[in-house]
Amino acid sequence: MADSRIPVAVLGATGAVGQTFIRLLNGHPWFRVAEVAASERSAGKSYRDAATTWLEGIIPNEVAGLTVLPCDTGSVKSLLVFSALDAAAAQDVEPAFAKAGRFVLSNAKNFRMEPDVPLVIPEVNASHLGLIETQRKNRGWSGAVVTNANCAATCAAVALAPLHEAFGVRQVFAATMQAVSGAGYPGVPSLDILGNVIPYIGGEESKIESEMQKMLGIFSGNAIVPAPFVVSSHANRVAVENGHTVVMSIGFEQKPTVEQAIAAVRAWRGAEEVRGLPSAPAVPLQYFDEPNRPQPRRDAMIGKGMTTSVGRIREDSILHIKLVAMSHNTIRGAAGGSILNAEVLVSRGIVPRPGGSNA
Ligand code: NAP
Repeated sequence: MADSRIPVAVLGATGAVGQTFIRLLNGHPWFRVAEVAASERSAGKSYRDAATTWLEGIIPNEVAGLTVLPCDTGSVKSLLVFSALDAAAAQDVEPAFAKAGRFVLSNAKNFRMEPDVPLVIPEVNASHLGLIETQRKNRGWSGAVVTNANCAATCAAVALAPLHEAFGVRQVFAATMQAVSGAGYPGVPSLDILGNVIPYIGGEESKIESEMQKMLGIFSGNAIVPAPFVVSSHANRVAVENGHTVVMSIGFEQKPTVEQAIAAVRAWRGAEEVRGLPSAPAVPLQYFDEPNRPQPRRDAMIGKGMTTSVGRIREDSILHIKLVAMSHNTIRGAAGGSILNAEVLVSRGIVPRPGGSNA
């Protein structure tokens, strides 16, 4: 029987996020990995031979024998392109694909804060995908670039979404404890991180301090009006494999009680149009009553890595409320988030299915 799934490409397929794409797309009901691409170091090799640092499980058969392509629009033909490129490569490659009519789901930092580029966590702000029209007009592109946020900002933004909707966030103090997989492969040398905390991640704090306001902002029809709050952040690398933890103190326009804040988090299900999509978790935000949760090792894989966990909502003596949030950085904060964004593009009919059906 003919395969009716949409053929997709993964750019940067050999890296930590690229490999996560390959794992998550294995057996996906709508998408089939047809092409993999990476740097000139890998191009021309089989994926099996190029992905020498394969991190988890075994390389799916469907992909292992594919030849790694260079990241150019002549070599890679797929309409839907997942990009796990590092920022230096993404700068020219991603716009070139969008110009050539492709839909690029980007994990890189380069275009996230451009006013006509959607920065999307679909349960939080699927409406921002409306910016695609403005982007295409502004740039004369027949394709588009849709971005995901920084992985720590994603974790924090999902946790803040119900609280912002209900009580109006005004100030956030955020300190992160970020997993080593967030630095890609090979990332931080083992002798630097084992038994240690590194209180610096280059460029991370400014992303955490700016991206959440865009994501929690309002789509006005052709622009995003950022949410009116300030964020101060400290970013730390810790000896955890997967799962970023963010502890936050939050000030609100209307101060909630602890019980009201917990109720808002528990009740939140995110945008209705996302529910039931193949990668959407049944519960996007889970609240723990246990005082020692969430924990990365125990909770990062809830909802197949797509659920954000929150715990310890309590009074804060400087701002109003404080809490702990945690989510899987390479799944919810990168590849899984991109795949869910692509599923929304398909369910909205922005990316056509083969044969034209968007059922
Ligand atoms: P990584 O492990 O270093 O992988 C980088 C990938 O980019 C590799 O496939 C590499 O191919 C490819 N590449 C490098 N230079 C290239 C070039 N000049 N042309 C074409 N391909 C090139 O990095 P990562 O952690 O997967 O991160 C990928 C992107 O996702 C980055 O922009 C990062 O900021 C973002 N991100 C990462 C996370 C996370 O938790 N790790 C979360 C959110 C966002 P070769 O193998 O051939 O060198």
